[in-house]
Amino acid sequence: MTYLPAPDRYDRMVYNRCGASGLLLPAISLGLWQNFGHDTPHRTKQAICRTAFDHGITHFDLANNYGPPPGAAEEAFGELLRTDFRAHRDELIISTKAGYRMWDGPYGEMGGRKHLISSCDQSLKRLGLDYVDIFYSHRFDPDTPLEETMGALAEIVRSGRALYVGLSSYNSARTRDAAAILKDLGVPCLIHQPSYSILNRWVERDRLRETLGELGIGSIAFSPLAQGMLTSKYLKGVPDGSRATKGGPFRDGFLTETALQSIRNLNAMAEERGQTLAQMAIAWVLRGGGITTALIGASKPQQVIDCAGAVGNLTFTDEELARIDEISSEEDINIWAQSSEG
Ligand code: NAP
Repeated sequence: MTYLPAPDRYDRMVYNRCGASGLLLPAISLGLWQNFGHDTPHRTKQAICRTAFDHGITHFDLANNYGPPPGAAEEAFGELLRTDFRAHRDELIISTKAGYRMWDGPYGEMGGRKHLISSCDQSLKRLGLDYVDIFYSHRFDPDTPLEETMGALAEIVRSGRALYVGLSSYNSARTRDAAAILKDLGVPCLIHQPSYSILNRWVERDRLRETLGELGIGSIAFSPLAQGMLTSKYLKGVPDGSRATKGGPFRDGFLTETALQSIRNLNAMAEERGQTLAQMAIAWVLRGGGITTALIGASKPQQVIDCAGAVGNLTFTDEELARIDEISSEEDINIWAQSSEG
């Protein structure tokens, strides 16, 4: 059956300007890191993406290695582009990345020109696209000159493979260096993608938000729900099929008693605000306009609907923000710390 997107989709979402650029991004974006591999039925992936677009989510975030196996998420999304979104390509912002291990041998990862440009070409093939909207350096590479990594990003734009470039996980100091090189090359850095949530606040200690504001770079906060911890799902134990049961990036030991206490307190506060905890956690990363968009993941369409509902209340009083700090504690869940500076 031909997919006809909801006609009122653009009334359902808020769109924020990405830094000092001409690009608007939805306040909530959808990432395909988990649940888009061969372990998930295609119809589930289709329902998640259709639901997202129906709610005004125009930005879909990928990477070369999302799967399993690596590459499978791009292939699945490429299929959906052909079957569902072909007529809507110009309504979509599609991003991909390179930097983590993708293929065997010395060119299969990190920040060298060979890896980035070959990987971008592979991604375009899997997606069935001529260009992506945003191409990222997925992590900082301490062994490659930053000029080479940024030069490859600039080349990817100049050659028409991407419209914009971004950096992921780079800390403030590395971001300043990289942004200066990109500026000299005439290809400004559009966006930065860090992990950030109530339970993972490295961005604040690093003053990354201030750095990005100063440089006119937008931001997309990934894992704003702390991989699902900042929802009500773990309040009564670990449900079957949840990410915590799958091993991998949701590490054993994340659900400590202090984490669960924070989650219980935050859930009660969200209820008082008339929101779900997922909605409050998303609103929190977006508070004050310091972050352009919250990059969620979902294993079911219903989760997308819940998260998209965050736009119903994005504001906090100073007292509420202080209370969130009081009733929650930061957890040791930033598994991407090493990617910030090598
Ligand atoms: P997240 O939004 O923090 O966690 C998503 C998980 O939370 C879902 O898979 C689901 O868990 C649960 N969930 C979502 N909405 C829910 C709701 N309303 N109610 C109950 N549970 C809900 O984000 P993430 O998946 O960790 O990451 C999001 C995206 O960020 C990725 O897809 C990727 O695009 C990007 N990312 C980037 C990097 C990088 O290095 N740049 C690294 C990681 C992620 P269940 O599966 O248990 O149902």
